[in-house]
Amino acid sequence: MPTWTNWSGSVTATPRQLCSPASEEEVAAIVREAAASGRSVRAAGSGHSFVPVVPADDVILSLDALAGLLDADPASGRATLFAGTKLRDATRLLWERGLALPNQGDVDTQALAGAIATGTHGTGPAYGSISTRLAAARVVTADGALLDVDDPALLPAFRVSLGLLGIFTRITLACVPRYALRERVWQHPIDACLEELAANIAANDHYEFFWFPRSGIAESKSLNPVDEIPEREEPPPLDGPGERTGWSHRIYPSARDLRFNEMEYAVPAEAGPACFAAVRQRMVERHPKVGWPVEYRTLAADDAWLSPAFGRPTVTISVHQAAERPYREFFTDLEPIFRDFGGRPHWGKFHTCARADLAAMYPRFEAFCALRRQLDPAGRFLSPYLAPLFA
Ligand SMILES: Cc1cc2nc3c(=O)[nH]c(=O)nc-3n(C[C@H](O)[C@H](O)[C@H](O)COP(=O)(O)OP(=O)(O)OC[C@H]3O[C@@H](n4cnc5c(N)ncnc54)[C@H](O)[C@@H]3O)c2cc1C
Repeated sequence: MPTWTNWSGSVTATPRQLCSPASEEEVAAIVREAAASGRSVRAAGSGHSFVPVVPADDVILSLDALAGLLDADPASGRATLFAGTKLRDATRLLWERGLALPNQGDVDTQALAGAIATGTHGTGPAYGSISTRLAAARVVTADGALLDVDDPALLPAFRVSLGLLGIFTRITLACVPRYALRERVWQHPIDACLEELAANIAANDHYEFFWFPRSGIAESKSLNPVDEIPEREEPPPLDGPGERTGWSHRIYPSARDLRFNEMEYAVPAEAGPACFAAVRQRMVERHPKVGWPVEYRTLAADDAWLSPAFGRPTVTISVHQAAERPYREFFTDLEPIFRDFGGRPHWGKFHTCARADLAAMYPRFEAFCALRRQLDPAGRFLSPYLAPLFA
């Protein structure tokens, strides 16, 4: 039996079939075959989710071979790419045509479709997740047909949809003209960082901090657009405090060489500081040995039905643990704090929410489930992890 494993090693699956179609027609044929034999199908991106949002018992379909740019229009900012294109390649292809994403997350190793399917985001109160850039998509539906989605009434359902409404084969992004960023990284005591938090969020396009719990130090990072035109695509390296300038798509991502697991919750922006204070207190009191940093970011409100930032300006707070260490007890001890502050979990990261919890968090949750049932009545795209949450 073939084996599929995620990036952190926390999820392993042995589906009957692991395939890598190279065309939309092949994707559609695989889904039709699965439908005819009553089998489940799930799409895989880069496997960078920490929870089993990918595995199916029957067929796992990697879209790695369905990659590349189809079309880019610098005038409208619209660009269409195959869904399996890795973010690193996608952003380079956009840059070559004078375009860029207005914001990106910590890494660019995810597949475009995988990043969009879970609401992958960076930081900045004026910026939504990558899912908010979805302007249109082509999906393979549960009966193996190709469907173009560009209806403004439907797009908010598809933006963050975990492969439950169909398998993306091509994605049209709303981009901005390419731009350069100045990055600044500095360290300060966590109390000083918190005193300056509101000012730093307001003063910078993109600001975040990492608190290192065992040292009491926070590392802050700001990114702001500059007019300067970098000579080369690759910026100079920056490891630790300092400054550099470079093209946005090469400045946003960091190298993540050590493997870890992660839990992240999105809380209403105004609750961010109090929620962080409660997390900090619990970590100091009950988890003094954890050395992995806590990350604090901001995110604009959006309209995607399953987006953790749906309808409210947001702060995201994430906690990490080394991949080789147990993480469940640590994460579940902190989770009620996030929930008390109105938190919604990141779909690609650890949480223990049940269907009823999710339905209470998301005003459009039942509408999403109804659309899912309509598009996939036989549950072709469900899985043992997702069925209890969305069936
Ligand atoms: C080192 C690291 C850094 C990270 N940094 C960030 C960050 O800065 N911000 C953030 O928000 N998250 C971050 N994440 C989480 C990560 O971005 C998400 O979990 C994302 O979904 C992973 O993308 P992927 O391509 O690996 O998708 P996968 O994990 O492989 O899949 C995720 C979901 O997408 C679905 N999917 C994949 N392809 C398709 C398709 N073609 N059609 C339909 N559905 C599809 C899958 O079925 C699954 O439900 C990070 C994760 C890691 C490991």
